Amino acid sequence: MPKTLEQPHPCARPQEMSAALYERAVQVLTGGVNSPVRAFHAVGGRPFFVRSGGGATVVDEDGNRYLDFVMSWGPLILGHAHEEVTEAIDEAVSLGTTFGAPCRAEVELAEAVVERYPGLEQVRFVSSGTEATMSAIRLARGATGRDLIVKFSGCYHGHADHLLVAAGSGLATFGKPSSAGVPEAFASLTRVLPLDDEQALSELFAAEGDRIAAVILEPIPANNGLLIQRKEFLATLRELTRKHGALLIFDEVISGFRVSRGGAAELHGLTPDLATFGKIIGGGMPVGAFGGRRELMRHLAPEGGVYQAGTLSGNPIAMAAGLATLRALDRADAWSRLERLGRALEERMTRALAASRVPARFVRQGSIFWLSLQEGDAPRQAEAIDPAAADRYRVLFSALLERGISMAPSAFEVGFLSLAHTQQDVERLADTVGEILGEVST
Ligand code: PMP
Repeated sequence: MPKTLEQPHPCARPQEMSAALYERAVQVLTGGVNSPVRAFHAVGGRPFFVRSGGGATVVDEDGNRYLDFVMSWGPLILGHAHEEVTEAIDEAVSLGTTFGAPCRAEVELAEAVVERYPGLEQVRFVSSGTEATMSAIRLARGATGRDLIVKFSGCYHGHADHLLVAAGSGLATFGKPSSAGVPEAFASLTRVLPLDDEQALSELFAAEGDRIAAVILEPIPANNGLLIQRKEFLATLRELTRKHGALLIFDEVISGFRVSRGGAAELHGLTPDLATFGKIIGGGMPVGAFGGRRELMRHLAPEGGVYQAGTLSGNPIAMAAGLATLRALDRADAWSRLERLGRALEERMTRALAASRVPARFVRQGSIFWLSLQEGDAPRQAEAIDPAAADRYRVLFSALLERGISMAPSAFEVGFLSLAHTQQDVERLADTVGEILGEVST
């Protein structure tokens, strides 16, 4: 069982320690943070500094407790400081922190991942999701001897150069860097398509299919709202890539082992050629992985010519945390429990939203959820997202935080449920959102 702290309560104490730490942080850490969205720029104010976490709760440096729906952006499917995970980490640490040589835990975690995920025969562990997608792309190019890659606008795959590109308007667009420092020449090898659009996909393959090394997508896009895709669109993607000899890469850094035991591939009944993982497989430690059929993975060094390496890859502590997490998920019958919890949140939240006059829709896939604060149906494309939702979210975010509920500091990031959340927790979230929106609309 996860360690439990006292019930979270409205955030009563002034955040003096957090304010002081932030002042120090901005002197020595760019923007005061080590990952941009943590800086609260999208919602205003400044971040609180977390001292500890337990179960579904985090405690800040001033002693305020928050019911947490960020859950470290996805890894903590068992909750914060889950006993089995922390015990596995303690045990591993006592045997040494890193060896730079093979160890048992990496074989065991690889076996566990391969056994669970459709079509997977081999994996390579890395230390982040970015490394996983970057390496999978290199492998795809090396294995196919082609240069072009295709991504979808609204999907995020980490910050490697070729993947940090955004679409302009039009159907198939040439990639434009979405970050300074990414050369146009790199981005020009990336094609960007809208999600949910079979025609754009077919047109691109008709024009350039024999130059495409790989198509990468989040099978459950969860980085620009939650853009749930139609099965037909995903099936077309599988069909076209196969027909043209391009590899299909499912980026399951968020969805892997969360939406079902075998990730989105199992849920959709589709097998990609390569898949990338992160978050849950590290149990809260820095881990990523990519994998596929043996026949593709053999292109990777030391067997093949595609180079990829890492001093801390397959780190014994991280492997132990990942393994403990996957085993605990199996024992807990995690996915049906999370589905029940998600459904309870959906029912209560949908009622709360219907009672308010703010345009809002609750979107959910298992334990991943998103509040779409705009008119109309849940969007399926990044292009369908109303930027004005950000203003509505800013108000909601701050009011939730004041009441002791922590959600992602951006309108377009999703929320995560864990096995540590209770029926009471999800009711509290829905009721509090309802209360806040009620105040806003009157
Ligand atoms: N792919 C997806 C789908 C992600 O959501 C993320 C990060 N949220 C990444 C890749 C990159 O992972 P990391 O932040 O560990 O580099």
